[in-house]
Amino acid sequence: MKAKRPFVPPERRETVRHRLVDLLSDGSADARELSAAAGIPEREVYDHLEQIRHNRHEYTLVVTPAACRGCGFVFGKRERVTKPGKCPVCRGEHIIPPKFAIEPTPHHRPRKDHHEG
Ligand SMILES: [Zn+2]
Repeated sequence: MKAKRPFVPPERRETVRHRLVDLLSDGSADARELSAAAGIPEREVYDHLEQIRHNRHEYTLVVTPAACRGCGFVFGKRERVTKPGKCPVCRGEHIIPPKFAIEPTPHHRPRKDHHEG
């Protein structure tokens, strides 16, 4: 039986995800730090972060928005996790990258125990 296997085995992806979750639980870090710590490219870090963000029943991704080093402008409304290239106010390119952390989502789903009868 021949089965096509994905280039990156799902198990490895899961391991990386757990690694990132561990790092983010410890405290905030930017994509570069996460990339170095998890041994994956920054592009993949963003990919994982987006998925962590959407996986809200387990944990909440807390994003400290990027800010301009020059004038202090904060990219607050930016929904994306990637680092912006330029400041819209002073056109500066010295941008402090967004930082990420996670908080465990409280288990607010009450267990329903059905006692019928
Ligand atoms: Zn600026």
